[in-house]
Amino acid sequence: MSAVTRYFKSLMLLELLGGLSVTLRQFFRPKFTVRYPEEKTPKSNRFRGLHALRRYPNGEERCIACKLCEAVCPALAITIDSERRDDGTRRTTRYDIDLFKCIYCGFCEESCPVDSIVETTFHEYHFENRGENIMTKPKLLAIGDRLEAQIAADKQQDAAYR
Ligand code: SF4
Ligand code: SF4
Repeated sequence: MSAVTRYFKSLMLLELLGGLSVTLRQFFRPKFTVRYPEEKTPKSNRFRGLHALRRYPNGEERCIACKLCEAVCPALAITIDSERRDDGTRRTTRYDIDLFKCIYCGFCEESCPVDSIVETTFHEYHFENRGENIMTKPKLLAIGDRLEAQIAADKQQDAAYR
């Protein structure tokens, strides 16, 4: 572009008008801003959020303390202690997940033979005090109890995709 053309273009403010036309075009397009938390974007039922331990419909906890999830966890985030109950079954006495270590890979859920440990789609949680990052067995069971309907529906939908 010659110096004369450049001078002429700058005199006509063509670049400025070009920029303003982009602004004008975007002004009338649909907005992408989501006003969270009032508005939310769609979420996959495979989203890996907060963990939960599930129970059977009769209230018995599913976990049989096989420790497969603990063994497979790449972040060493799971700690399990177990004991044999009077009825001969084995259950956990301690089931901790350190959420500061967890990388939400979903391996624990994949490895569980009884669909006990799951990652729910719930992601709106926070910690206010030291130590709250450790999800203990009672906390995990309570989340499972609260979200069981959603977990079961997600599992069903997931199975339909496979
Ligand atoms: S999601 Fe992955 S990193 Fe987190 S506890 Fe499960 S296996 Fe470990
Ligand atoms: S949650 Fe599942 S994989 Fe982990 S110890 Fe319990 S039964 Fe085994």
